Amino acid sequence: MTTTLPPPIKESGQREVFCGLTSIVWLHRRMPDAFFLVVGSRTCAHLIQSAAGVMIFAEPRFGTAILGERDLAGLADANDELDRLVAQLLARRPEIRTLFLVGSCPSEVIKLDLAKAAERLGAQHRGRVTVLNYSGSGIETTFTQGEDGALQALVPLMGAPETGTGASTGGGSGTGRAAEQLLIAGTLADAVEDRLVNLFARLGLDNVATLPPRRSTQLPRVGPGTKLLLAQPYLSGTARALIDRGAELIRAPYPLGVQGSRAWMAAAAAAFGIDPALVSAVLDPLVERGQRAMAPHRETLAGKRLFLMPDSQLEIPLARFLSQDCGMELVEVGTPYLDRQLMAAELEQLPPGTQLSEGQHVEKQLERVMAQRPDLVVCGLGLANPLEAQGIATKWSIELVFSPIHGIDQAADLAELFARPLRRRGALTFT
Ligand code: SF4
Repeated sequence: MTTTLPPPIKESGQREVFCGLTSIVWLHRRMPDAFFLVVGSRTCAHLIQSAAGVMIFAEPRFGTAILGERDLAGLADANDELDRLVAQLLARRPEIRTLFLVGSCPSEVIKLDLAKAAERLGAQHRGRVTVLNYSGSGIETTFTQGEDGALQALVPLMGAPETGTGASTGGGSGTGRAAEQLLIAGTLADAVEDRLVNLFARLGLDNVATLPPRRSTQLPRVGPGTKLLLAQPYLSGTARALIDRGAELIRAPYPLGVQGSRAWMAAAAAAFGIDPALVSAVLDPLVERGQRAMAPHRETLAGKRLFLMPDSQLEIPLARFLSQDCGMELVEVGTPYLDRQLMAAELEQLPPGTQLSEGQHVEKQLERVMAQRPDLVVCGLGLANPLEAQGIATKWSIELVFSPIHGIDQAADLAELFARPLRRRGALTFT
């Protein structure tokens, strides 16, 4: 299905989004042998600490090297301090195998070269730990882009496929086929990932790798023969780096909702030449069950008007899910950035006339919200309370990246996340 969408509203101005440091919250849980060292200010430390919560029974796998006034004024050599701190950290924490130096607004402002620092520290601690760097700065990134930066930093460490290395120039397709693998990129909840990998196995796809892996040292291989399936829509840089290494991007929507998840799996199956009849035999009973589970939430959501503010970059797939599976009307679908290549299969399924907006000028966007009076606004934490006070139900977008929402089996839970605020508001209004 192709639709005509009007040109997106393009805005720039004040933004109300979390910075890329926030993604450390899910990345450090995913790779327990990695450590994320933010080189930043007390504000950065507070952000991470309050977003990730306090680990009571385990030592945290993230921390902040705080740049003091002397560092910021250029009176102290921040590199010396960093070297000392990293040496202390590694001596105390033998389990750390990969150390990410994460840049922040302050480190960027004083132009601390973390790529060089990572190189230097990597050489100092060679054989003990791999040191990488990426930026989580609020000047450069919105909150999910932190994951894109971290994964991109891992790509150069990924080996080439075992068969056909170097000599395989695509001529020997008989042996080249043995190197074929499906690479799923983007952090998923472990249980969700297990379920999806299991479903792929039932479709006959056994060679499935994931990025990030569960151990930072067990990176998947990438090269010709790798077919890349994105589980998260915010991985523009990672996708390009993997494509540059020879991976082939599978064009698919994202695995949100019943229909999106089915199409995501079917696209991967088609890329490997799997019989669509087998895909139907495996997935259709799940689709039926998923639709049944979603029915009560669809009743609440159908016909309700939805406005999505730009925040997590999940907005376009969510809008597609909420209109396609749940019957919601889309008032405006905001996204921080619009990557047309990665969104192609999503955009074509949005209802004709859907208004997209790219970037943010928060005041102007709030004016549009107030003029349109939608039933539900998906937005960042900072905007939720003021909108609730205006009588508009809200859903925090950050909750969506911390919840297991991918796959057919999770569709009802995902729908419920949006139905709940409407039900609560209805209960408050009518009792
Ligand atoms: S990186 Fe920038 S936006 Fe993020 S917490 Fe630190 S100072 Fe704030």
